Amino acid sequence: MITFKQHHPDFLPPFCPNPNCTFHSKLARGWRYKKTGFFRRQALPNRIQRFTCLHCRRSFSTQTFCTSYWQRLPQLDAQLLSKTVGGMANRQAARDLGVGPATIDRHLGRLGRHCLLFHSRFMRQAKPAHHIAIDGFVSFEHSQYLPFHHHLAIEKGTDFFLYFTDSEVRRSGTMTAAQKLRRQQLERLHGRPDPQAVRKDVRELLAVAIGGQAVVTIESDDHRAYPRAMRGLAPRIRHRVTSSRERRDNRNPLWEVNLADLLIRHCSANHKRETIAWSKRRQASAERLAVFLVWRNYLKGRREKERRSPTPAMARGLVDRALTVADVLEERIFPAHVPLPPRWGRYYRGEVATRGVVNRARRTAKYAV
Ligand SMILES: [Zn+2]
Repeated sequence: MITFKQHHPDFLPPFCPNPNCTFHSKLARGWRYKKTGFFRRQALPNRIQRFTCLHCRRSFSTQTFCTSYWQRLPQLDAQLLSKTVGGMANRQAARDLGVGPATIDRHLGRLGRHCLLFHSRFMRQAKPAHHIAIDGFVSFEHSQYLPFHHHLAIEKGTDFFLYFTDSEVRRSGTMTAAQKLRRQQLERLHGRPDPQAVRKDVRELLAVAIGGQAVVTIESDDHRAYPRAMRGLAPRIRHRVTSSRERRDNRNPLWEVNLADLLIRHCSANHKRETIAWSKRRQASAERLAVFLVWRNYLKGRREKERRSPTPAMARGLVDRALTVADVLEERIFPAHVPLPPRWGRYYRGEVATRGVVNRARRTAKYAV
């Protein structure tokens, strides 16, 4: 059970939650607001303090600063976080928690968005990584005719999951004559993915992971798009290539990213082999991966079998203890306070469309994040 510090009688709103108000900035001084009574709700605590900003007149409450704002089940996100990274599929989580599947989909999207902001906020104060292993994690959305890669960047020596992007790719590999025909029909109807997508999206991955450093070392497999993706990115990139046929043990230079691949498959129901819980949308896969990233970096020890193994965030000196689910959900993060890298901005706004599928409603709600 999470108790939110915002419900403590001493809690003072730190800024105006209206993104268009001068006092939304945490640095603006002289903000004035007044208390304007309470409202009652079904969940505990029942009585919620209301306020009004004396500058923009926006009304808000202590709940506005909680990750559980507008939720009838304020404990759901915390339970969902551990179930999601514990390998449970969305409908299993819905049955287990006694809510509808649509509720789980919605909450998982929201949790994913919170995790995008949570990690990006840490990265603003973090030193950039100078030794990075990258890899493309292969999955598919909607049907096996729509494969995609999640490109992962992991720091060598700490297991810290720095960033990810994605690329649509064309279905390849062994296909029957009927499957080839079906692929042709679908491509005629919905078009083909950009053949340069991997190069472009790995470039974007690296640009964010390198973060303006002059000298970096990148470890990768022998994918032929990688050298082209690196061209001109930093003055000096040392690119070390390990064949994908090399033995994948902890002596392999790609160990950290291979381990991340394994963990993603192990922990995420949507990426298991031969699953019936595959991702229906790449957008939702990115949201789930953001939840995984936060859990992996800040909550989970680096080594499963070592007691009190430090988390990747501890290994790189970002925090001095393993965080808990309550720490992650401690406060709502407002998007105006944390700039997101371009691709994560698209994930945040729900802009990633699945080929041939009408996109679900994009995030245009006025007050929500
Ligand atoms: Zn205001």
